[in-house]
Amino acid sequence: MRAALLYGPRDIRVAEVPEPEPGPGEVVIRVRATGICGSDLHTYTGDRTVEYPQILGHEFAGDVVAVGEGVSGIAPGDRVTAEPNFSCGECLYCREGLVNLCVNRLGMAINWPGTLAEYARVPARFVWRIPDTMSYRQGALVEPLMVGVHAVRRGRVRVGDTVAVMGCGAIGLLTVAAAKVAGARVFAVDIVPEKLDMARRLGAEAAFNGRDPDIVSQIRALTPAGQGPMVVFETAGVAATVQQALDLVRSGGRVVLVGLSTRPAQVVPMSVARREVEILGSFIYYAGEFEVGIRLIADRVVDAEAIVGLAVGLDETEAAFKAVESGAVAKAIVEP
Ligand SMILES: [Zn+2]
Ligand SMILES: [Zn+2]
Repeated sequence: MRAALLYGPRDIRVAEVPEPEPGPGEVVIRVRATGICGSDLHTYTGDRTVEYPQILGHEFAGDVVAVGEGVSGIAPGDRVTAEPNFSCGECLYCREGLVNLCVNRLGMAINWPGTLAEYARVPARFVWRIPDTMSYRQGALVEPLMVGVHAVRRGRVRVGDTVAVMGCGAIGLLTVAAAKVAGARVFAVDIVPEKLDMARRLGAEAAFNGRDPDIVSQIRALTPAGQGPMVVFETAGVAATVQQALDLVRSGGRVVLVGLSTRPAQVVPMSVARREVEILGSFIYYAGEFEVGIRLIADRVVDAEAIVGLAVGLDETEAAFKAVESGAVAKAIVEP
């Protein structure tokens, strides 16, 4: 089969590799759409190193073409998407249902072949059928949407809450959409005007340019008694934004860290302690949550496809990475 292989930082080439065979409990899927994710970009640039060559891509949808021994409930011809993180089911966290914290987690495109290829192999228990009315592109957007949905659940967003989302990349935009669905008034921040337009389209009441030195007071002015949003999501993955989120959130509010910055962020402990601010982490999603994303897109509650700015074939995979890196598009899709 043909696959886009990353041979080293910024060295991605399409090559012929052996077609995967399903082992016991596994299925093989003909990949029809794969989204390029911020985490794929980190691997592409060499920020995160993996074993080379590696097939990137983990947000995908396609058709089941083969099932291994012992697989029931999934059959060739099924249209599916899949969770790309394979928890062990046996460690302390898995037994508590916190599969996202699994200590033995295998991740597609990290230590399991990804989906920028014609075929992908996945354990059947992570495969989800999608309705016939859902396109493959929409199916590939379930995974990033679920990151946003999980973040909103972690932030305990309630109807009528004011919420700010710092960073309108794919995850930020889908967090905007999820917070809107949860009944919040949403304010979005980014530095790319097109992404601010997209945030409004996905339900943000107002969107602000993050370069504006005045955004904290501008957003606060729109919240009850000018005190600031109840929940602030940091999805930009920028250390400096963490301090901005803490400046913005109201007393007694919550800051949810979704972005995966590896740089230290400055925090003034008193501003957290005295104002009883909660700082929470949010990482992927729990077991069983995936169905929520399938329903939200299938029922047209969330127009996830609005974030797609580019769709190309496998040969143009490198162009898709460059487009996401430039910030020009929030989500690029490769259709192998
Ligand atoms: Zn992703
Ligand atoms: Zn585990």
